[in-house]
Amino acid sequence: MGTSLTLFKVFNIEVRVHWSFVLILIYGAFAYAGSDSNVLFGSLYGVLVVLLVFVCVTLHEFGHALHQLLSNSTYPSVSGTSVPRDFVELPSQLMEHWVTEPEMLSIYAKHYKTGEPMPKELIDKIKNSSFFNQGFSNVEIYAASLLDMAYHTLEAPVKIDVQTFEKEYFTRLGLIPEIVSRYRSTYFTHITGGYDSGYYSYTWAAVLDNDAFEAFKEKGIFDKGTADSYRKNILQENGIMDPMQMYVNFRGHEPGIEPYLRNLGFL
Ligand SMILES: [Zn+2]
Repeated sequence: MGTSLTLFKVFNIEVRVHWSFVLILIYGAFAYAGSDSNVLFGSLYGVLVVLLVFVCVTLHEFGHALHQLLSNSTYPSVSGTSVPRDFVELPSQLMEHWVTEPEMLSIYAKHYKTGEPMPKELIDKIKNSSFFNQGFSNVEIYAASLLDMAYHTLEAPVKIDVQTFEKEYFTRLGLIPEIVSRYRSTYFTHITGGYDSGYYSYTWAAVLDNDAFEAFKEKGIFDKGTADSYRKNILQENGIMDPMQMYVNFRGHEPGIEPYLRNLGFL
């Protein structure tokens, strides 16, 4: 198509984007830089980060697409992305891990004049900057996840003031006053609307995807054998066994929390 541009090509799959995405990219760079034009024009680091976020989102959605396309189930209601909520983000979030791998960057992030791949020091800088504030932001998320659970584990109808309930719950939990829940009860839409006690699933999916990527790291991020096993055990076999069993069939064991903690910079 004349109006699209090639973003990258991997496994003989060419990912093309509509030209309007370039405008979104430029807009995003300005949004990232905000009023501090030095951030954008001083180093163009903002543009680089926005580019990586863009690739990340593209691969994330591509992961959902692969899950849907490669599903081999009889019943649509249990195939593709129609799997338990705390499993559905595994195929998508897993894909995000490739974005900053040097082997992957050498495919799509080259210097526009020399064709040189991105230098290791720059990659390290980007990875290190991703550790910033993770403790704070994850405690926010865990607090919201637990609050969601607290509402959904009430055993009988009660008449409560949600702000008092929330305050008492967090005090019991020991949440320090410097950190608040990512969402307060009055605008925490994930409490209902289909998620219903499922806000934790983002964190659980992160435990799964970080552990699953270790399998690729062990044998090589483009290892065909690992990719085939992942396709067979995770993407195809939906609806016929417990997702944890599917995971064990792929990985050989249940997920450990260490890869998740390590990638957040906590270990
Ligand atoms: Zn997703």
